[in-house]
Amino acid sequence: MSKPLLAGIEAGGTKFVCAVAYSPVDIIRETRFPTASPKETMTRAYEFFRDCERELGPITSLGIGSFGPVDLDPASPACGHITSTPKLQWADTDIVGFFKKRMNVPVGFDTDTNAAALGEGRYGAGRDCDTFLYLTIGTGIGGGVVVDNRALHGLVHPEVGHIRVVPRRDDTFAGTCPFHGTCLEGMAAGPAIQQRWGKPGIELPEDHPAWDLEAWYLAQGLAAMVLTLSPQRIIMGGGVMHQSQIFPAMRGYLKEFLGGYVDRPEITEEQEDYIVFPERENQAGITGALLLAEDVAGKGK
Ligand code: ZN
Repeated sequence: MSKPLLAGIEAGGTKFVCAVAYSPVDIIRETRFPTASPKETMTRAYEFFRDCERELGPITSLGIGSFGPVDLDPASPACGHITSTPKLQWADTDIVGFFKKRMNVPVGFDTDTNAAALGEGRYGAGRDCDTFLYLTIGTGIGGGVVVDNRALHGLVHPEVGHIRVVPRRDDTFAGTCPFHGTCLEGMAAGPAIQQRWGKPGIELPEDHPAWDLEAWYLAQGLAAMVLTLSPQRIIMGGGVMHQSQIFPAMRGYLKEFLGGYVDRPEITEEQEDYIVFPERENQAGITGALLLAEDVAGKGK
């Protein structure tokens, strides 16, 4: 019997990554293209898989890690849909249904950040943890939560980027989140940095006050997440975290905000191993999507 051929889609708000592989870390063909209208983008992905099948034989299963919010509830009629996304063209798009109908294979589905968390968990910075957080700080703030080696869903799925934060006394910025104003994303994602300081973060010097303020907000969010989810590690990637000077300041503020209450050396002494940059930064999402495909391979359609 031939080896199952896995297909994966990392469906991001700005770009799609599609790949086929026999193992999640051994990609045979990969393509990346910008996210356009749902029909155009999904058709392009489908055509890529069809070309791969011509060359490699039939695909056995598909995994999709999608931007959201998405409906993951198997009992819901909208399961497999992108739902109330601010990317209006994509609101109420049945992304799983589109591929299931055309490819006739089992489809595994989760959020893009949960997929990336699974990828980092199996093959990256979370490999020695069973309960950890994966955060991405870029044009938004997204978070995947893995508990006992499974992506946490619950009622919907965690949206840790929208935790409410208290504005710092010297910061009068109103926040960018259309839902909450001054939530973590509204105060600390890339667009908030750009609007508050009048230029994108990448143009601000390393010692600009923006970075200490950024560390302060991120640490507030992290304190809430440490207290509620008790992660064994926090993996933080995305464009903003390339400013590596944020890390030491953020670790200091996290310790301060927790006030000695979580009395573990990971918090009080060894935060360099506790809050880390991803190991598979640009590949974590597609690796996770292929893991979702592996998970449903051989299961019913
Ligand atoms: Zn928000």
